[in-house]
Amino acid sequence: MISENKLSQQAIDLENEYGAHNYHPLPVVLSKGEGVFVWDVEGKRYYDFLSAYSAVNQGHCHPAIIGALKTQAESLTLTSRAFYSDMLGKYEQFVTNYFGFDKVLPMNTGAEAVETAIKLCRKYAYEKKGIAENEAQIIVCKNNFHGRTTTIISFSNDEVARKNFGPYTSGFLKIDYDNLEALEETIKANKNVAGFLVEPIQGEAGVYVPSEGYLTKAKEICEKHGVLFIADEVQTGVARTGQLLAVNHENVKPDILILGKALSGGVYPVSAVFSSSEIMDVIRPGQHGSTFGGNPLACAVAIAALNVVTDENLAEKAEELGQLFRSEINTRLVEKSKFVSLVRGKGLLNAIVINDDEDSSTAWDICIKLRDNGLLAKPTHGNIIRFAPPLVMTKEQLLECVSIIESTILEFEN
Ligand SMILES: *Cc1c(COP(=O)(O)O)cnc(C)c1O
Repeated sequence: MISENKLSQQAIDLENEYGAHNYHPLPVVLSKGEGVFVWDVEGKRYYDFLSAYSAVNQGHCHPAIIGALKTQAESLTLTSRAFYSDMLGKYEQFVTNYFGFDKVLPMNTGAEAVETAIKLCRKYAYEKKGIAENEAQIIVCKNNFHGRTTTIISFSNDEVARKNFGPYTSGFLKIDYDNLEALEETIKANKNVAGFLVEPIQGEAGVYVPSEGYLTKAKEICEKHGVLFIADEVQTGVARTGQLLAVNHENVKPDILILGKALSGGVYPVSAVFSSSEIMDVIRPGQHGSTFGGNPLACAVAIAALNVVTDENLAEKAEELGQLFRSEINTRLVEKSKFVSLVRGKGLLNAIVINDDEDSSTAWDICIKLRDNGLLAKPTHGNIIRFAPPLVMTKEQLLECVSIIESTILEFEN
């Protein structure tokens, strides 16, 4: 095994020796990607069923996005925001029209965009809502995932992500996900609630889809009490769930929208915070920023990536393929296997739950077998496997992947 995969082993050894051990990757070393496929250094081909946590919705190395990257890279990559560029305004006009918001604040990573949204929400609360300085509270949900900065982990309840990284940032109230009474009661009990930060589907937690109507009613409650509804769509956005945004399933317009990941098709770190002018205009020069945020390369890549989403009808494809995926997995696996208790999700953001406890290694072991059989996925917990392939997949490819998943798990069971 080790001699057979010598190149892979070398690459893994290098990461182990010289890199921080802040991840536990599945043992596969990739060197090439195209569309729904990735190849390892030995030349073996795999279906990518993670899409870099939903960043590569448009497929690996999409020629239109790579083309835009190359063209822009040859003329201008970074000015910083000390100067104007001929790309930023164009991008801002394009992207605000695309998602239907007045204004955008460009950043790079998802966590930075979440931080930006928190700052924006707080500042708006102090300057427009009259909440006393340093008293603003933002409601978040249990089992959330919003990133890895010190403030964001302060309101996580993942002990692995939190422990020994304190002291934590205050100003957050945690409630159960998918619980409207908890939302309303918490708002009523605290006069300083400025915002409600929520994932329309909890991805990292294991693809938890809330009850139908949850987002609509949560937005209504927020509106009634003058609380900003902040949707973190870093994972669910950009066509992943079968709509351009997951909130569109319930016709909800967030006061603040956070995007990242697939905003660039996984080609370059691009994130963004959207809101009305009334909210965004509380941020004045010098109060927030990023050297790379909104750079010309990011702008060119994101425009191209979003054009791919429209041109290739990726939202419709995700909706259609997602229905097919869940119904196939239901009849071919959930009903047949004692092992898989359910499949859930929306569009092409799905997960299966394995009949085992949370800290078992079953999901990991299945992912190793899936890898051997040519499909890459990663557990979100000991007993949950997320399936999020690129949205450019064909129906035939999806059915082939279902067969791989079916036979791998049935084989595993015996
Ligand atoms: C991935 C993710 C983030 C963090 O994005 P990074 O680019 O890794 O910082 C934030 N929120 C959600 C919902 C995510 O899935």
